Amino acid sequence: MKWFCRCDQCGTHYDLVPGRYLCDVCAKKQQADRPLEGVLELAWEGAPDPHSIPLPVEPKWFPPIPVGNTPLWAPQRLREQYDARHLWIKDDTCNPSGSFKDRASWLVAAFARQHGVQEIVLASTGNAASSMAAVGAAAGLNIKVFLPANAPVAKRIQVLQYGAELVSVDGNYDQAFDLSREYSDRTGALSRNTAYNPLTIEGKKTVSFEIIDDLARAGASAPDHVFVPVGDGVILAGVYRGFENLLALGRITKIPTIWACQAQGSNAIARALTTPYAEGDPFGPPRSSQTLADSIAVDVPRNGLHALSKLKKHDGKAVVVTDDEILAAQKTLASGSGLFAEPSSCTAFAGWVKVQATLPREESCLLLITGNGLKDIKAAAQGLGLTI
Ligand SMILES: *Cc1c(COP(=O)(O)O)cnc(C)c1O
Repeated sequence: MKWFCRCDQCGTHYDLVPGRYLCDVCAKKQQADRPLEGVLELAWEGAPDPHSIPLPVEPKWFPPIPVGNTPLWAPQRLREQYDARHLWIKDDTCNPSGSFKDRASWLVAAFARQHGVQEIVLASTGNAASSMAAVGAAAGLNIKVFLPANAPVAKRIQVLQYGAELVSVDGNYDQAFDLSREYSDRTGALSRNTAYNPLTIEGKKTVSFEIIDDLARAGASAPDHVFVPVGDGVILAGVYRGFENLLALGRITKIPTIWACQAQGSNAIARALTTPYAEGDPFGPPRSSQTLADSIAVDVPRNGLHALSKLKKHDGKAVVVTDDEILAAQKTLASGSGLFAEPSSCTAFAGWVKVQATLPREESCLLLITGNGLKDIKAAAQGLGLTI
C-alpha cells in the first residue's frame, strides 16, 4: 500500500514525510484568527488487509503501550431511564493517559520512530499534552509541551510524571500553539499540533473501526447516530474518516449521523454549520471561549474548515448545551452508569439527552466518552455544589 496526503480543500497530493503539515497552496490563504487552511487528510493506493485497520505506519513501529481497544458499554439503567434500548457508550477514558487523545499520539509516535525523529513538540489545553507525554514515555521519545498556565492541575502533573518537558505559557491555547509551531519550525522537532499534523486526524479514525467490531461482537449493527464532543473538530473528522474508510472497504453500508456536541460558550463549529458568518468566511472573528469544559474550549477551532466540510458532506448535525447541562449530565452519567467522565465528554451525553426524544426509538445511538472525570476534579466538584 502506498500512503499519501491529500488537501481536503483543493485535492493536491503530497508525500507523507516528516515536516509535511499543511497544503502549500491553501495555507497561503491563511488569515489570522481563523481555522487552519489546507488541512491534509491521509489516503492510500492499493488493497489493505481486510482484517485490520489501514494505517500509514507498520505495526512494528508502534510503542508498547495499550492504546485503543477500549470497552463498549451497554448502560442498562440509562437505557431504562430514557426508554432507549439501543444506547451504547464507547469508553475512551480507558486509554493509558485517560483520554481519547492517545489514539493520535500513538500514531504520531510510531511515525516518529519509523523516521528516526527523537523529539515531538505540541501545544495543548491539557489532554493532548498528557497523552503525548505518556506515549512518549513508552516509546523513549523526547516530548516538549506548551501548556497554558490555567490547564487543570491533574493534566499538568501527568505531563511531569511521564517525564515530558513542560513549558507553561502565560496566555491561552492559541499563544501556546504559535510558540510550539515556532519551535518545530526552528528545530525540526515533529509537531503533534492537532489538525496541523495530519496523523492526528488519521490516528483518531481507529475508534470507528472498533465501534463497528465491538457492536458486531455484541450482536448489534452499526450505529445510526454517534455523539461526539467537539472543540477543534479533530475527533469529529477522525470519526468521519474511519467511517469513510469503512464504507469504501464495504464494511458498512452508510455513514452514521454524527452529532457535533459543543458547549454554548465554545460553539464555533455548530455556529458555522447552522448560521455561517459570511459567504467564504463561515467562522468569522473568534469569540473568546467561556466554558468549564476545558478540553473543548477553543476560540478558533483549528480543524474548523475541515470538520465543517465533513459535516456538510455527510449531513451531520450539531447540538449545543450549557455548562449547567454539562454538569447535570456528568452526574447523571456517573450515577446512572458508573462512568465518571470529564466535562468535555459529558457534552456528548448532554447533547444526546437534549435530542434523544426526537429520534426514532429503534435507531441506535452511541456516545463517545473521551476523558476520565478525575482529570478535572474542580469542575466535577462544582457540579456537586462543592468548592475545592
Ligand atoms: C481534545 C478533547 C476533545 C475534543 O476534541 P477536538 O478534536 O478538539 O474536537 C473532547 N474530549 C476530550 C476528553 C478531549 O481531550
